[in-house]
Amino acid sequence: MTVRVRFAPSPTGYLHIGGARTALFNYLFARHEGGTFILRVEDTDPSRSREELVRPLLESFAWLGIEFDEGPHVGGPYGPYFQAQRLARHQAAARRLLEEGKAYPCYCTPEELAERREAMQREGKAPRYDGRCRYLTPEERKALEAEGRKPALRLKVPEEGTIVVHDLIRGDVTFSLKELDDFVLLRSDGTPTYNFAVVVDDSDMAITHVIRAEEHLSNTPKQLLVYEALGLIPPAFAHVPMVLAPDRSKLSKRHGAVAVEEFREKGFLPEAILNYLALLGWSPGGDEEILTLEEMIQRFRLEDVGKTAAIYDVGKMEWLNGQWIRRLSLDDLLQRGRPFLEEAGLWPQGEREEERLRKALLLAQPRLRTLRDLPDGVAYSLRAPETYDEKGRVKYFQGEKARDILLFCAQLVDELGKEGRWTKEAIEGAYRQGAEGLGVKAAELIHRTRLAVTGKTMGPGLFELLEILEPQEVARRLRWAAERIEG
Ligand code: GLU
Repeated sequence: MTVRVRFAPSPTGYLHIGGARTALFNYLFARHEGGTFILRVEDTDPSRSREELVRPLLESFAWLGIEFDEGPHVGGPYGPYFQAQRLARHQAAARRLLEEGKAYPCYCTPEELAERREAMQREGKAPRYDGRCRYLTPEERKALEAEGRKPALRLKVPEEGTIVVHDLIRGDVTFSLKELDDFVLLRSDGTPTYNFAVVVDDSDMAITHVIRAEEHLSNTPKQLLVYEALGLIPPAFAHVPMVLAPDRSKLSKRHGAVAVEEFREKGFLPEAILNYLALLGWSPGGDEEILTLEEMIQRFRLEDVGKTAAIYDVGKMEWLNGQWIRRLSLDDLLQRGRPFLEEAGLWPQGEREEERLRKALLLAQPRLRTLRDLPDGVAYSLRAPETYDEKGRVKYFQGEKARDILLFCAQLVDELGKEGRWTKEAIEGAYRQGAEGLGVKAAELIHRTRLAVTGKTMGPGLFELLEILEPQEVARRLRWAAERIEG
């Protein structure tokens, strides 16, 4: 048996981080098993889903580097891969169930159903379909049809007994049939419900393993009943734990970024996102947390997916992103950082600028958490600061003493430049000696120089940073800052 799994999103116009995680688990499982990974778009609700809703989804997957073997965009032998285009199959299966007496038409209107549901609730009963149309005589049916009522189709669910879901992650989960009512397969407009369409499609597409979010576990007994009614062998099921927000509620937009595209814009690397998503619910074993897609494929086993909900932690994701940024070659970092640098108006003109930028990148690399931090971390290599950090300005750029120190540093730098001793060791030596001569701590010089040269109070080691620039440029920035000091 070759493994066939699918990711079956109801498109919303973007790829949610939870959906991406479900897709990734399917993908890792398929690749590990040498199976096939399928995209099926569940666009059953025509008012919400349009074909163009799929494009952002495909773009996000392409960016992540997750490829589908079959799907609406790549085709395949089991198409069409849009659920709405499979209506004829759903209706044919429904007809069969009707003919075999396993399903029945229900003429109750939404208003009647709502009324009866409310009545049940008033009596303190769990609202469910009361089975009114299950035992109608042919004459009663005719009469209701004569009223112009369009029937829905409901499955005849056994009134007693239990149904067991054999879940690959959660073990056996038993459901009492008393909790299920005769649920709808086809609505009165002829469109299938999720629980019906998903069975017909999974079976038609020869899906062997359904790997999906835990929130669907309660749907699975219904789907098993449909498999049984249709005389089909169900696939294996694996319900992966939910991804929850830190407050343990369902992860939504109010918790900040939830779309993969947003993370891309925030300067996350696809490697880091995949790595992070895989760890949401899966433990690869061992201490190693940084894993490439290849390594994840090698190690992935459904048995190692946990049962408890995974809590989404942006801080952890940023940390992982930083780790991944550290692993990039300088060329790669430059290339991936380019859109962010250009957006900030930072792109080198000529070789000298490029060399300076590359050196600054190397210094900044270990401190970066996202590519968005990049422009801020390297701007000094291409241009003088336009403003100074406000706290730093208050602390270091006030009064006579501050001005004198800046001018003193400018002179030091000039001399080093003239003597051709522009190395980080020489700069450090001159600064320490100079501070001693002035009778102040070296920090008094260092903090002021950093603020004058970069506009910031923090960053990589100052002497390495200064070495990147020309001494004349450093002296110019120091004097410029000195001129700006009041009093
Ligand atoms: N369209 C469903 C969803 O997005 C699919 C669930 C399933 O995988 O069966 O939740």
